[in-house]
Amino acid sequence: MSSLLEIINLRAHFPTKDGLVKAVDSVNLGMNSGERLGLIGETGCGKTVLGMSLIRLLLPSTRIEGKIIYKGRDLLKLDEEEMRKLRGKEIAMILQNPTTSLNPVLKVGDQIAEAVRLHQGLSKKEAKARAVEMLEAVKIPEAGRRANHYPHQLSGGMKERVMIAMGLACDPHFIIADEPTKGLDPATKSQIVALMKSATARKSMLMITHDLSVAGEICDRIAVMYAGELLEVASSESILKDPLHPYTVGFINSMPSRGLRPIRGFSPSLINPPQGCRFHPRCDKATEACRHSHPEMIKVKPGHQVRCLLWN
Ligand code: SF4
Repeated sequence: MSSLLEIINLRAHFPTKDGLVKAVDSVNLGMNSGERLGLIGETGCGKTVLGMSLIRLLLPSTRIEGKIIYKGRDLLKLDEEEMRKLRGKEIAMILQNPTTSLNPVLKVGDQIAEAVRLHQGLSKKEAKARAVEMLEAVKIPEAGRRANHYPHQLSGGMKERVMIAMGLACDPHFIIADEPTKGLDPATKSQIVALMKSATARKSMLMITHDLSVAGEICDRIAVMYAGELLEVASSESILKDPLHPYTVGFINSMPSRGLRPIRGFSPSLINPPQGCRFHPRCDKATEACRHSHPEMIKVKPGHQVRCLLWN
């Protein structure tokens, strides 16, 4: 597999009235072409900001540093016109929360057709036909009729399917999917997981999710994020069967299928994250050293990296 993406020392910080939010802090991560990588972590750990950084959909006030090398080009050095050409056609993002992401006053078929026309230069009629084709591809029954519905006329699961159809409509090479199963009931969630798995089988995907079972089912590798940093990166199998970082172990134990034992305490502030290891106030294995020394990410075995002093 060839290298698709290399994120080097990426920082995305944005000012707020309470201080500078360090949502992404010195992240290094690579992806191969055709790989599906799950980015997991609790709400507010910075994973959506990391995804948005890759497609450069952040507030203009965001201070972004580092490199995002995509197919040999640093995306942070492209001008807005060059980025606009890449979005949708080469890199697409499936945004989270379809209820707020879809335009409530436009029919869903027209919303997909608009994205296709913008990036593929199809006629109005061709774009409409492509929209119906995509709704069929994501298994929306009576796609031709549903294309004329407004978002509020569709169920939560159908709206998520529309978001996926929109993301895939221009046949992008790389997809960033942000929480595609969030808020769905278990039956709809398993349908969306099956759909994502088949629809992205020949694509590269970064899937952002707080649901480790979803990442484990769809993705080849998993990167665990906490308080703006990556803590562990390994194959999905290694993460689920042999997690090395105490946070990953806690995250797994908090899954309903593993006993629903939540990690004690709360996610830290991204304005003033804890000194030393950012996880130390919640870690049962913390020592005095963890309060002062900030662990580096180290390779513990082939393909398995972890940021924890226990492994240094
Ligand atoms: Fe826990 Fe220390 Fe490892 Fe941090 S460095 S995860 S506090 S053992």
